[in-house]
Amino acid sequence: MNKFTYVSVNSTDAAIRELDEHDSPKYIAGGTNLLDLMKISVESPDHLIDITHLAFHSIEDTNNGGLRLGALVTNADTAWNEKVEERYPLLSKAILAGASPQLRNMATNGGNLMQRTRCYYFYDKATPCNKREPGSGCSAVNGYNRIHAILGASEQCIATHPSDMCVALAALGATVNITGKNGDRSIPFADFHRLPGDRPDLDNTLDAGDIVTSIDLPTEGFAENFEYLKVRDRASYAFALVSVAVGLKMDGNVITEARLALGGVAHKPWRSIEAEAALTNQVALTENFKKAAEIALEGAKGFGDNTFKIDLAKRAIVRALLKAAKLEEQA
Ligand code: SF4
Repeated sequence: MNKFTYVSVNSTDAAIRELDEHDSPKYIAGGTNLLDLMKISVESPDHLIDITHLAFHSIEDTNNGGLRLGALVTNADTAWNEKVEERYPLLSKAILAGASPQLRNMATNGGNLMQRTRCYYFYDKATPCNKREPGSGCSAVNGYNRIHAILGASEQCIATHPSDMCVALAALGATVNITGKNGDRSIPFADFHRLPGDRPDLDNTLDAGDIVTSIDLPTEGFAENFEYLKVRDRASYAFALVSVAVGLKMDGNVITEARLALGGVAHKPWRSIEAEAALTNQVALTENFKKAAEIALEGAKGFGDNTFKIDLAKRAIVRALLKAAKLEEQA
């Protein structure tokens, strides 16, 4: 680990000022991913700016009937918050599928969005990795790529985004609120994370110095008909091979609105607007769910070890939809 200095700040202005005074500063809150990366020198900030004491610790109703999640609320406090449990159980379930109780007690909502891929090669400095060292190559494309992307990848990088929480936020259509050098702004969740393209070193669309302040959930939480299905190698403390977040609005057995997002398959949470459209105004039937799954995986490409994920994702989508529609027996 490199030497670094540390400061704790009490305002966003102070945080941004600190940023300008150092060569390679980083914000830190829960630190559950950043410290791991620093210990193996994948991240080597010269200055840590602790933003834990900024005023983003509340969960509050918004004027339009939604809910605002403070960026510094822990994942555990978010998942167990009464309003989240009651109105956005899909989000609670997704958060509780991730990491371990200890990590969820420490990790923040903002940090969950900012966590980096768990591609093995990204963590192994003895191997080329375009995300860690742009232009060095991608060890995963022709290497061991069981956990890697099947959608939206590029020749430069086939990494996946590791979050469970973010898959639910993508399905719900959340908004990320940010403050930075140029003031406040909001980014639709679908535009927050990037696909790798030819800049896999960039995970998201934040500008230097930006701080995530909160995440807004829209009014509709799909609390009656939802599912977060996570398929992984062991029952806990493992990242998703494939995960599916589903929210449905139903009128009898007809789906009037559908949300569907996948995790573990792309460089960002992968919401399938096309599959959602295919489900809308359809009867909740296995046959229709299979059609939607085919649509969601259109264009999917395997790289050898991860090709199994294409069929796995299709089956997981059907199963999640059956669960959300309360029709599990049809499977
Ligand atoms: Fe690096 Fe991305 Fe390739 Fe993994 S998949 S080795 S993160 S460039």
